Amino acid sequence: MEKIKRFIECIIPVSACNLQCKYCYIIQQNDRKMKIPKLNYDPEWIGKALSKKRMGGVCFFNICGAGETLIPNYTIDIVKELLKQGHFVNITTNGTLNHRFDEIVKIDKKLLKRLNISFSFHYLELKRLNLLNDFFDNIDKIRKVGISFVLQLNLYDGYMPYVDDIKKISKERVGAYPQVALTRKEYNKEHILTKTEIFTEKSEEEYIKEGKKYDSPLFDFTTKNFNVKRKEFCYAGDWSGALNLITGDLKKCYAYPFRQNIFKDINKPINFEALGKNCNSPYCINSSHFMSLGVIPSIKTPTYRQLRDRPEAGWYASDEIKTAFDSKLIESNKEYGKLKKLKVNVKNRIIIVSTNMLRKLGIVKLMRKFGYRKNE
Ligand code: SF4
Repeated sequence: MEKIKRFIECIIPVSACNLQCKYCYIIQQNDRKMKIPKLNYDPEWIGKALSKKRMGGVCFFNICGAGETLIPNYTIDIVKELLKQGHFVNITTNGTLNHRFDEIVKIDKKLLKRLNISFSFHYLELKRLNLLNDFFDNIDKIRKVGISFVLQLNLYDGYMPYVDDIKKISKERVGAYPQVALTRKEYNKEHILTKTEIFTEKSEEEYIKEGKKYDSPLFDFTTKNFNVKRKEFCYAGDWSGALNLITGDLKKCYAYPFRQNIFKDINKPINFEALGKNCNSPYCINSSHFMSLGVIPSIKTPTYRQLRDRPEAGWYASDEIKTAFDSKLIESNKEYGKLKKLKVNVKNRIIIVSTNMLRKLGIVKLMRKFGYRKNE
């Protein structure tokens, strides 16, 4: 069974969505412009650019829109190409666009064994729009063809009076309670995340007590790692990356100041190199992906699967997905020697400290204004 060589967090900068959740990150940032960007490269080209050979092995691509991932008509075509290349793919979706699930279930069944779908359970919006049945029918639809899934709820004050309803309907329709993620309130400056708090009017204790009601390992993990600044050696940049699927810009991680374009010339090798002890984020903001897959091998964590699957309800359908999502990146990669670690630590420290200084002096803003630099 294949294990994962690299984890690639893929963003599609679509800001359109058919729901309007109060805690949505694009609503918080006033970025809900309802835009669907055009693809710069066609899906087949993207598939070739991300071939197993070029990527160094089997990768896990997590595809998420800033708004709803399945609104653009090209998302499923990209997913298909990545699956054809032999990779694992996760799609995060609000689960309401019925026609998109009709499309997904038509993909070759062999390929679907490597597909996982994260259904974000936006309970109040689904109720308001009378979409609860459509949502769970779509889960039934994909289960029938052997696609793995997770039901995931972003913990939010507005859900607190409905905890019993949420648990009941989840148990009835998918056999278990949703996995729960802590919801954050973000503060950004010049497109850089500077500070985060829990998105709640309650005390931290009350919020955590509420989350515990779902018996969710995902909640325990995201809570434990929330706002913990990471200082260990991180292999982001080598064992993982953050990719914009429209432009082909690949960064070592979200807050790394530079990028390489990997779609323009697909014959050019990709430079994979870790950023080391230079995490530029206030904390590992997607720890349930990066850390559980093992980008920081010095930290022992549950596996990606242990945080998500409800084995008693059989959410993970294929052995391929079970093996891959139970593996750690260290199983397909080698750790660096002392000298290489020192080299990447020093090099990236200089890059990050100098960019942060230019940012403080307002020079990065000016460079962006005059087109010498793209937005982060
Ligand atoms: S610790 Fe920092 S650099 Fe490493 S994956 Fe997490 S956010 Fe990215």
